[in-house]
Amino acid sequence: MRVLVTGGAGYIGSHTARVLADRGHDVLIYDSLARGHRAAALASVGSGRLIEGDLLDEDRLDQALLAHRTEAVIHFAAYALVGESVTQPGLYWRNNVGGTLSLLRCAKRQKIGHIVFSSTCAVYGEPSGSDLVESCQLAPVNPYGETKLASEWALAAHARAHGMGVTALRYFNAAGAHPDGSLGEDHDPESHLIPLALDAVAFPNRQLKIFGLDWPTPDGTCIRDYVHVMDLAEAHVLALSTSKPGTFRAINLGTGTGASVREVIDMVARVTGKPVPHAAAPRRPGDPCRLVAGAGLAGPELGWQPKHSSLETIVSTAWEWRKKHPHGYRA
Ligand code: UDP
Repeated sequence: MRVLVTGGAGYIGSHTARVLADRGHDVLIYDSLARGHRAAALASVGSGRLIEGDLLDEDRLDQALLAHRTEAVIHFAAYALVGESVTQPGLYWRNNVGGTLSLLRCAKRQKIGHIVFSSTCAVYGEPSGSDLVESCQLAPVNPYGETKLASEWALAAHARAHGMGVTALRYFNAAGAHPDGSLGEDHDPESHLIPLALDAVAFPNRQLKIFGLDWPTPDGTCIRDYVHVMDLAEAHVLALSTSKPGTFRAINLGTGTGASVREVIDMVARVTGKPVPHAAAPRRPGDPCRLVAGAGLAGPELGWQPKHSSLETIVSTAWEWRKKHPHGYRA
């Protein structure tokens, strides 16, 4: 298939673009490089396959879709920092929802048949404790989650009105790196637990802050469902191959197993062979206590099973990436 990947220079986008290209798809990345990395696009699909452009620039996007004769779009391009979305909601609504609306206008003009959308379990907000399935209440608690949910609604309406096949994939905690060490996680600023724990091991005078030791969990720290980025990438490929015209579906991507912050720290110490310098810190505003996927639609709809998402594989691949690229793509 000829697939255009918006945000393909980002973390999950670059891994997905690589898996698509490795399977023989004709992949073009469309990325503003505002937050993505040229080197990630290059490492995923090679040279000459990146169009630098903003989603809001509809002429440029139309041109890219037309020249490539795109059949399907995988749409990652979005800002994804929860704290920033609270202080700059306009930026998030403009970029995430405005960008999705631009893409939808172009997709309609260029008769794109299928879209896979990068969504998030943040659309559920702060659940009361049970494992999350797709029928749970949608109640995002920050503008980031709100813009992802609003984008889902726009996509669903377009699927019904214009016959596109659309799949929204709601990720739990993406983590890990490509097993060959060429692609990995590089955010600026970095806010995620696993890269910060690895940095605390790798660099002198770094310390991981644990955001709260008094949560109502067995060890007092928050619980998350960590999914390997290669498993997420695989789900996008399956979403394309099972997409049905005129249909919208939203599918959770989690493993069903939670790990606490302390369990992650213990695994980082085991994999690296070094203790993780850490200290207690207050709870981070907006953090839910526990987010774990229930048995949802990913199995029946996509035939998806996570294969690389043991905590050990996640931390080991992230550590290999960190060792090879201590300063991320800048090195
Ligand atoms: N966390 C932490 N210290 C950090 C970063 C994260 O204790 O420096 C905790 C955070 O409170 C959450 C978990 O680690 O419970 C995962 O956070 P992350 O930012 O990686 O992902 P999120 O769940 O917020 O999307």
